[in-house]
Formats: sequence, C-alpha cells, structure tokens
Amino acid sequence: MVIIVGAGPIGLATAIELKRLNIPAKIIERGCLVNSIFNYPKDMTFFSTSERLEIGEVPFISHNPKPTRREALEYYRRAAESYNLDIHLYEEVQDIEGSDHSFTISTSKGTYKAEKVVVATGFYDIPNKMGVPGEDLQKVTHYYDEAHAYAWQDVLVIGGGNSAVDAALETYRSHANVTLSVRDSQIKDSVKYWVKPDIKNRIKNNEITGYFNTEVKEILPHEVILETPNGIEAISNDFVLAMTGYQPNFKLMKKFGIALTDDKDKMPVYDEKSLETNRKGIYVAGVVCGGMDTSRLFIENTRVHAEHIANDIQEKKG
Ligand code: FAD
Repeated sequence: MVIIVGAGPIGLATAIELKRLNIPAKIIERGCLVNSIFNYPKDMTFFSTSERLEIGEVPFISHNPKPTRREALEYYRRAAESYNLDIHLYEEVQDIEGSDHSFTISTSKGTYKAEKVVVATGFYDIPNKMGVPGEDLQKVTHYYDEAHAYAWQDVLVIGGGNSAVDAALETYRSHANVTLSVRDSQIKDSVKYWVKPDIKNRIKNNEITGYFNTEVKEILPHEVILETPNGIEAISNDFVLAMTGYQPNFKLMKKFGIALTDDKDKMPVYDEKSLETNRKGIYVAGVVCGGMDTSRLFIENTRVHAEHIANDIQEKKG
C-alpha cells in the first residue's frame, strides 16, 4: 500500500500512475478534492491551456483555451472518478512513523500502514506574511475570493505577480478604488501576457494608483502607511488584499523527517530522478518540491513526477 498525502492534481496523478501499475494506493486529503484550486479566486482563469493540466490521459475540454477554476474542479473530479481512486477527504495527515516498507501514518481520524508514502501537499495553505503591524486586522486577507464585496471601497492590493494583478483588475472593474503596491520596480515578467497591457494601461491612466519600489510599513484600521521612493505616505484604506505568495508547510515536512537544503531556499532533499527524499520510502511530488521558490513549479511541469515515482516504487518492489 502507498499512502499519498494530498489530493491536489499531482497527488491524483500519482495515484493514477500507481493504479496503472496495479500498486494499491490511498490518498488522504485534509480538505475537499483539489482543495487548493477550490480556494483560488472564484473567477480565476489558468495561465495554462487545458491539455497541459491533464492527468492520466483524461481529456480536459474547456470552453476557451485557458480553463477556468470551475472547469478545473469538474475536470479533476471526473479524472478521479474515471480511475475510481481511493480517496479519504477531510482527514489530515499528522505524522509518519516507522521506516521504508513499514510506515505508520497517523491522521486526524486514525492510523494506516504503508510501504511507501508520497507527500504531495502543495504550498497554498501557508501565506507569506509581511510581518508588519496590523497584518492580522480583519480587513486584511491573503486569499482573494471575488470582487463584489469591495465595490466603492478603498482597496490596497499588495504584490506584483499574477494573483495581485488579477485582484487589482477585478476589484477595479467592480468599482473599487484600487491602489497597487509593488515592492519591485515593475510588474513581474511572469504575469500573464494578455493581462499585462491591461494593468499597465490602468495605472498609466490613473484608474488604478500604482506604487513601485514601495514597502507596506503598517496597516491601521482606516489607513495604510507606505514607504515609497518619495518618502512615507498614508493612504485611506478599507481592505488590504496581500497577494504576497505562499509557502510549503516546512514544519510538517521536517516532522515527516524530510530534510531541507538550507534556511533560505528550503528545498526538500530528494533524488531528482526518483523524487525519493532523504528518508527512504518517502517521496515528494508536485509544487511542494520547490521550497521557497514556488513560482518555478506548476501543474504543467510537475505532472511528470507521478510517473517517476510510480516507476521507482515498481522497480524497488523487484
Ligand atoms: P496542491 O494542489 O496544492 O495540493 C496539495 C493538497 O494537499 C491540498 O489539497 C491540501 O489540502 C493537501 N494537504 C496539505 N497538507 C495536508 C495534510 N497534512 N494532510 C492531508 N492533506 C494535506 N499551475 C499551472 O500549471 N497552470 C496554471 O495556470 C496555474 N495557475 C495558478 C493560479 C493560482 C492563483 C495559483 C495559486 C496557482 C496556480 N498554478 C498553476 C499552480 C498550481 O495550480 C498549483 O500549484 C497546483 O495546485 C499544484 O498541485 P499540487 O498537487 O502539487 O498541490
């Protein structure tokens, strides 16, 4: 038996590859199926075309070349059903004891025995905090959902990547008064090419106020203090959307006995080919492999982990 921790796209892909090799596998997921995607902004469109998000050769047909979150939820549900995967939802994996061929996995609901474990826990559960006063105020969120709630409000969006740009444009179009605060001198290169001209023009036309080379210093109940190249500025504020990225659960990985390269990059230690970690019999799969650099790995380029891991487990069975 192989236990897979996490029912994200890559956890599912790994279960499918194991099934194809007739190796029994069970997925244990702390939330709903593809919990991260479920929690993405409601109207989000992927930057990938649908065929690049496919797993197990199940065709992903979407209405437009770039699928929506809703289409992805339906697709992964269908993919899991068509392979009749064994998935336990709303059950959190808390610890892994024992050693290769004889692991005991403790969860919020019980314990399981497994010969191998695959950790595919993603990075979306833990936001990167700015560490500024006021970040814990109720008006601050690291998870943007949908725009309507922000109509006619003073909204500060923090960040220069896709999530920040999408949130800024959507809230602006729902009649919020939007300020975008970016730490770097420009919007990130990785921002979707068809969205970039839109945000640049909104800022150029002063429809969205853009601050670059700017740090948020403090969040107050009705204001935000920014450190801009022209000095400190206080701007009126009702809501803060801190789109400052996310990070894998390093504490949990350490608890699972997975070593991290260093304190800065925090890459898990694993074999590039097999994805087996320093703890024999435990593998990492999907975007959890990226450490702090979460912008490098996606569904697109980590789907392949599933096959590598399944083949390695098969080979080691002899
Ligand atoms: P996840 O999908 O994050 O799955 C991990 C799962 O593990 C989660 O369901 C989580 O609940 C579960 N879990 C965590 N801890 C535990 C535990 N202790 N016990 C049990 N379960 C646990 N990628 C692309 O290729 N193309 C795109 O267009 C694209 N757009 C994106 C847009 C946004 C807004 C974001 C944030 C990401 C985007 N990505 C995209 C990246 C990609 O969607 C995600 O990184 C993808 O979900 C990674 O899949 P995964 O299976 O590795 O991890």
